Amino acid sequence: MTGRFLVTGGAGYVGSHLVAALLERGLSVTVIDDLSTGHRAAVLPGARLVEGDVADPSVLEPVLADGPWEAVFHFAALSVVGDSMREPVRYLSSNVGTGVRLIEACVRHRVPRFVLSSTAALFGMPDCLPIDEEARIDPASAYGESKAMLERTLAWADQAHGLRSACLRYFNAAGADAEGRLGEAHDPETHLIPLVIDAALGRRPEIAVFGRDWPTQDGTCIRDYVHVADLADAHLRVLPVLDHRSAVYNLGNGQGHTVLEVIEAVQRVSGRQVPVRMADRRPGDAAVLVASSARIMRETGWKPRFAAIDDIVATALAWREAHPAGYRLPTARRTDHPGLG
Ligand code: UDP
Repeated sequence: MTGRFLVTGGAGYVGSHLVAALLERGLSVTVIDDLSTGHRAAVLPGARLVEGDVADPSVLEPVLADGPWEAVFHFAALSVVGDSMREPVRYLSSNVGTGVRLIEACVRHRVPRFVLSSTAALFGMPDCLPIDEEARIDPASAYGESKAMLERTLAWADQAHGLRSACLRYFNAAGADAEGRLGEAHDPETHLIPLVIDAALGRRPEIAVFGRDWPTQDGTCIRDYVHVADLADAHLRVLPVLDHRSAVYNLGNGQGHTVLEVIEAVQRVSGRQVPVRMADRRPGDAAVLVASSARIMRETGWKPRFAAIDDIVATALAWREAHPAGYRLPTARRTDHPGLG
């Protein structure tokens, strides 16, 4: 591919890793991000950053008019599940409104390929494991609902207008760029792996484990942690499929780990103890969410390179150690050479 690629939300966690993967292949990348949750420093040099709201036509139209575009990757969205339960209408209005307007504009500007950052939250409380693409779509949160609506919109956009799309349902995105340039930096942080790492590093007093009475081997929830660079890779591998048809893919490692196993992995990799407190179940959690990624593996050759939880944790730990304040401040460590000014 020689053309240009547009990444909405490319200053965010998964989006910034996709930008890195595109740049590594020598491709031309434009990012639209309003930096409300993304970070300017997460957009690597080499990509063009257009700062603004994707939903604002005065931002989006000139960018799309400046094509042709090989593909649009849509990440920009509100993505905190708990917030979406407190403010479901705001989540639906923002995520669906922005996404539908973007899809409509892509049709108008004849963008040939669209890749949606979707989610395992589509599946709510699944009764069949591992979760494949035939599982019932039944979101348990407004966040999941907003992505389900965009998936449906894309199905219509293909049927009526020939916009080919891939919907990639991420399970638990984790880890960081192996070169240490990019990582996870949410504010506030709610995700398990960065919180456990902070507890190991003494930056938090403890990690609260949400529920000890789940029907799993140690009583804690099982999730499928998939490395963010592997997710990025999947976005590139689906593009050739879109030359022929649209597709939906579940994306995970295919292996589940309990919360206690994640804590053990952090202890193993960091060599430090993690103070643990047992807490009540978190509303909305499912006992087990593990993906079947058989379809994307079969159809695109995708395979996680960071399959082991220790390898995922190691990249996250390296990033968090070096960036205690995420992207907000310069890196923690700097080697000062005496006598060099
Ligand atoms: N979790 C936990 N303590 C925390 C944060 C998360 O026990 O402080 C658990 C949570 O209940 C879930 C798993 O860790 O079972 C992963 O949660 P996370 O928020 O990272 O991702 P989610 O599965 O909600 O997308």
